[in-house]
Amino acid sequence: LEPKEEFDHSSLAVDVMRPRRSDPALAMLTQEGMTVGEVEALVESTRYSGFPVVVSQESQRLVGFVLRRDLLISIDNARKRQDGVVSASQVVFTEHVPPHAADGPPPLRLRGIMDLSPFTVTDHTPMDITVDIFRKLGLRQCLVTHNGKLLGIITKKDILKHMAHIANRDPDSILFN
Ligand code: ADP
Repeated sequence: LEPKEEFDHSSLAVDVMRPRRSDPALAMLTQEGMTVGEVEALVESTRYSGFPVVVSQESQRLVGFVLRRDLLISIDNARKRQDGVVSASQVVFTEHVPPHAADGPPPLRLRGIMDLSPFTVTDHTPMDITVDIFRKLGLRQCLVTHNGKLLGIITKKDILKHMAHIANRDPDSILFN
């Protein structure tokens, strides 16, 4: 993101974030309750670089963010090296592993690959502030929340596309000094 481009002050994070109303829902993981097979199916059905992790589908409370690459590598390694990890194993991102049935497969603990403090903005954060945060912190993505609930995601590319879109529609809204 070039620092010389000043951002249109009227856009908000909610205008730039995905998913849009017509898009499929945000692809996210829950901190417990999903199996290795379910996580693999979700990751493989999309091309996203990362996935937010939430407490539960009902609460939508954000607990962290995992990169696609780290998920795939960890699952692959565990399947090869960790005795008993199979598609039916529970994936847990929590600190404490919930008790599992003695006759069930062992859980796969993935808290170690999760970013525990992903950057977030609220849906009403002005985009000029969000762009500033991306630049200053060198972010690749940022999550969007509303009343503490996860709503969406903004990637660096989303910002660049939005800037290009505004420049086309209204070239005066982006000031080149
Ligand atoms: P990039 O924007 O660099 O291509 P991604 O491949 O991660 O990065 O994202 C592609 C698009 O999908 C972006 O518009 C982004 O906002 C959106 N996106 C990213 N992660 C998710 C996700 N987990 N669920 C839904 N949409 C996502």
